[in-house]
Amino acid sequence: MLSAILFLIAGFLLGHLIPRVPFMVLCRTSGFNKGFPPHPEPIPLSPRLTQRVLHMRWFHRLGTYTTFLPLLFGYLSILGGQSTFGYGLFLAGGWTLLSRGQALLGGAPVACTLEMAQRLQMVMNIADSEDACCPHPQPQWWVESIRCESCSKKLEDMMRPDLGRPRKDGFFRGWLRLWLSEGRPMVVPDDGKN
Ligand SMILES: [Zn+2]
Repeated sequence: MLSAILFLIAGFLLGHLIPRVPFMVLCRTSGFNKGFPPHPEPIPLSPRLTQRVLHMRWFHRLGTYTTFLPLLFGYLSILGGQSTFGYGLFLAGGWTLLSRGQALLGGAPVACTLEMAQRLQMVMNIADSEDACCPHPQPQWWVESIRCESCSKKLEDMMRPDLGRPRKDGFFRGWLRLWLSEGRPMVVPDDGKN
């Protein structure tokens, strides 16, 4: 009985982890992160950053496709006799698919969205125009918002999700945090500060 429960839990954890591997692992290499300041420093806005947001969006999507792996392996395990392990995989895969699917119906989207990339582009456009906050605008993306490095004005109220940089909190803690948060920002916005 105990071993059945352990198999179920192992299957569930594995099935939950597989769809998250693309964005947790693939983008953390230092080569992929050249040109960005180390985590958790603010990142200057640039076309490169906008592209990174789109890349991360793609990694999250890739994760949704890899959800079919636990579903498939779960099915095979159930057929092959290791049914509790298979049920665990199946449950976790189904859970992930449902949570990603409900985003299409208007629920919480994945951490990085197209809208986010568009808002970054708009901030850059304004910084280049006559409406800029100061003569030498340097918009940077902090954890809780986009602010100008030169005049400290808050330019956009947009929390920064995980952008694939190797994390300062170390491999395992960072990994656990990513697993739990799915790359979403884990701080509460502070309305009082500018
Ligand atoms: Zn400024």
